[in-house]
Amino acid sequence: MTQTIALQIQQPFSDQLRKGYPLISKDAVNAKQLPTEQGTLLKLMDHHNRFIGTGYYGIQNKGIGWVLTTDANETIDKAFFIKKFKKAIDNRAAFFNNDNTTAFRVFNGEGDGIGGLTIDFFNGYYMVSWYSEGIYSFKEMVYEALAETVNYQAIYEKKRFDSKGQYMEQDDFVMGTPGEFPLLVKENGMTYAVHLNDGAMTGIFLDQREVRLAIRERYANSTNMLNTFSYTGAFSVAAALGGANKTTSVDVAKRSLAKTIEQFSVNDIDYEAQDIKVMDVFHYFKYAQRHALQFDLVVLDPPSFARTKQMTFSTAKDYPKLLKDTIAITAKNGIIVASTNNASFGMKKFKSFIDQAFKDTRTRYKIVEEYGLPKDFRVPREYPEFNYLKVVFIQKID
Ligand code: SAH
Repeated sequence: MTQTIALQIQQPFSDQLRKGYPLISKDAVNAKQLPTEQGTLLKLMDHHNRFIGTGYYGIQNKGIGWVLTTDANETIDKAFFIKKFKKAIDNRAAFFNNDNTTAFRVFNGEGDGIGGLTIDFFNGYYMVSWYSEGIYSFKEMVYEALAETVNYQAIYEKKRFDSKGQYMEQDDFVMGTPGEFPLLVKENGMTYAVHLNDGAMTGIFLDQREVRLAIRERYANSTNMLNTFSYTGAFSVAAALGGANKTTSVDVAKRSLAKTIEQFSVNDIDYEAQDIKVMDVFHYFKYAQRHALQFDLVVLDPPSFARTKQMTFSTAKDYPKLLKDTIAITAKNGIIVASTNNASFGMKKFKSFIDQAFKDTRTRYKIVEEYGLPKDFRVPREYPEFNYLKVVFIQKID
């Protein structure tokens, strides 16, 4: 049985939460009043002891829990989860009815009313991601609610928390009939291979769908394309299908080679005509400069943080350097697709990194397009700060 405790919220946080802000910040509460068990329901009260809402206690790096409802009469039970799931699914009717795209996000945490929980759809299979021990304590209710709401081949899960907030190696199968992997999904007619039970990541980042389409339709044709931090090469596949003369994919992880070959192969692209390099991007930049390589289209999509034997990379600190190295190997009039999913800064700051890099290299540029999260990655309407994705298409003028 889930416990409920009353918890006082300090100002100005109480006003924010009352208006609909979903995240309970660490600074909003007196740590001494926090319960011992994550998953405890919190009856949130203001300093006049007036009801604000009901939330749950779950520790993420962003905060200590999420508001679930501001209706004093609403209880957090299976019916609550069913109601939220049905609404989220109704919102994605256009996705469910589109045969050209069979992988998308069905439930996006706070944007759909339950922070700390996301659900992705992969061609009949569902992937539930849990972001705190707190929300994971509701798992029985959540799985019963989901199983009653959708038709599924199988449900898989990723636990994206432990003491360090990292993914835990585990068997990710939850219920249904286990799938065979790779599972092939469609995205705007392209094919992607996904693995739902093989480590922290599935093979494709669904939030970049619109960027892949833009690359394929409007930017790739006849280019020499470079994809840095390429992972399984999803952007390279989009570029090859969009008519790139050649793609080069660079990722330091050994697994990226086989995974990239797989993505090309399921799209009938001859991977031997493409370059796939397992190496540190920063070493590749030096190699490319030494050989005077020039690219017409470069994708930069680094992780927010990364550590290799020689160095650590943090987007917030190193993006301008990454861009400067890129500018040096981008052809005149070429396009740089600069992307980051770092939630700790917004578009304005990201653009200041771009501006700094071009100023430092005395190069002129033009921003030609911008992207954030696609529609299925719903964010709370009033709070765009939860829209963490920032992608800017930049043309190098000279
Ligand atoms: N752009 C990819 C996702 C990138 S995930 C896509 O759209 O699918 C981040 C990737 O960066 C991981 O595959 C990781 O192995 C790689 N990586 C981290 N540090 C790196 C480095 N210094 N050089 C090359 N790759 C790196």
